[in-house]
Formats: sequence, C-alpha cells, structure tokens
Amino acid sequence: MALSSWKELPIGTIITEPGNAREFKTGDWRSQRPIWDSEKCIHCLFCFIYCPDSSIKVNEEGKMTGIDLDYCKGCGICAEECPKEAIHMEIEKR
Ligand code: SF4
Ligand code: SF4
Repeated sequence: MALSSWKELPIGTIITEPGNAREFKTGDWRSQRPIWDSEKCIHCLFCFIYCPDSSIKVNEEGKMTGIDLDYCKGCGICAEECPKEAIHMEIEKR
C-alpha cells in the first residue's frame, strides 16, 4: 500500500530503509525554520556539508539557491556553521 505521508505509518513503525525518508515529507517534524539571507551568502556551502537532511539546495554552478523545507527538520546546524550568519532560525508557525 502506497503511503503519501509519514503520518499514515502505523504506530510503532519507523522509517527503516536507508534513504526512504525521501518518500515522506518529514519537514513537518520541524519546530524551527531556517531563514536564508541570500545577500549575506558567499556560497561556501558549509551548510550543505553539515546539513544532516541534505536540505540545502545547490545549482549546477555550485551556488546555494535555498533550503528544501519539505525535508529540513530545523536542527539549526546550518545556522550554527554559517560563517556569514546568512541563516538564522525562527519558530515554525503552523
Ligand atoms: S554556510 Fe552560509 S555563506 Fe555558506 S553557503 Fe551556507 S548560507 Fe551561504
Ligand atoms: S536546519 Fe538542519 S535540516 Fe534544516 S537545512 Fe539547516 S542543517 Fe539542514
């Protein structure tokens, strides 16, 4: 049976297959949201390297283009590691 959301998983079930979190938009687990300031960004991609959810979007030229909020869980590592303070965290509003 195909599931459209992690919320449809039976209680006690976890995402167990390597890489299968991509099938579920787990970004809505987030309680804080990263806000990216493209004006401050120098495209060093530290955030890309450190992001545990591969949620930093980068184009073919190796430039950061944004954050994929479908998968970002709001851990704040990108904001912590950014050398230019180009990312800050805000409380997620739903
Ligand atoms: S770590 Fe900061 S400066 Fe570097 S690419 Fe990410 S947002 Fe831009
Ligand atoms: S908050 Fe965490 S999961 Fe989201 S983009 Fe930053 S490092 Fe990745």
